[in-house]
Amino acid sequence: MSELKPGLPERLEAVRAALRAEEARAGRPAGDVRLIAVGKTFPVSACELAYQCGQRDFGENYVQEGVEKVEAFRASHPQDPGVWHFIGPIQSNKTRAVAEHFDWVHSVDRLKIAARLAAQRPAGMPPLNVLIEVNIDGEPTKSGVTPSEAEALAAEIVLMPGLRLRGLMAIPAPASSSEERREPLHAMKRLFDRLRMRFPTMDTLSMGMSADMTEAVDEGATMVRIGSAVFGPRDYSHACRAEAG
Ligand SMILES: *Cc1c(COP(=O)(O)O)cnc(C)c1O
Repeated sequence: MSELKPGLPERLEAVRAALRAEEARAGRPAGDVRLIAVGKTFPVSACELAYQCGQRDFGENYVQEGVEKVEAFRASHPQDPGVWHFIGPIQSNKTRAVAEHFDWVHSVDRLKIAARLAAQRPAGMPPLNVLIEVNIDGEPTKSGVTPSEAEALAAEIVLMPGLRLRGLMAIPAPASSSEERREPLHAMKRLFDRLRMRFPTMDTLSMGMSADMTEAVDEGATMVRIGSAVFGPRDYSHACRAEAG
């Protein structure tokens, strides 16, 4: 996504068009890839505008900010509040808020967090859809399990009532060439194909952001998480201070 259009509706439309074009180029059916609009640091009004343009899947990184948006949408659109994806790091003292508000969690990377989410998912809600986050390029400071740990964690998660194992998520390191971007995406697809033979509920591969969306679709992503290309550049200067500390 090289050029940012001025308004959110225009940007969202441009991202949708790019996604459809990439699906076609990759020989995949139109609509095969789900677009998650990542609104972190943007106000609920920005998500509302995207909603008015037909967007229904939203991704959030920060628990407090995400919970506020989910609650606003449950109040303003009680029949159709959208589908809310938690995609950020999860501390164990925040699992209850995540379990009570979100439909999906993309960032499960340890047993303790999975067990808490399962125990805290309210009985009246459908199971929480879970993706295991994989640190595919082995960056030392990044969250996510190693590819070899993913299978053991998956085997535990499928036993937990309250959770439904849907697949894998990755945030590959930024890379300057398309070739370099493809490598971890391709490794994720191979891991995904191998694990889903053992765990048939796995149908989702979440990878691809504004900078690598086209390569991710080509390599088999079923969800892309797009922030700046939809909402515009982020300003972190006064966002989410309460959670940073
Ligand atoms: C911020 C974020 C995104 C979206 O990033 P953009 O580069 O703005 O598209 C996607 N996934 C995760 C986990 C993020 O934190």
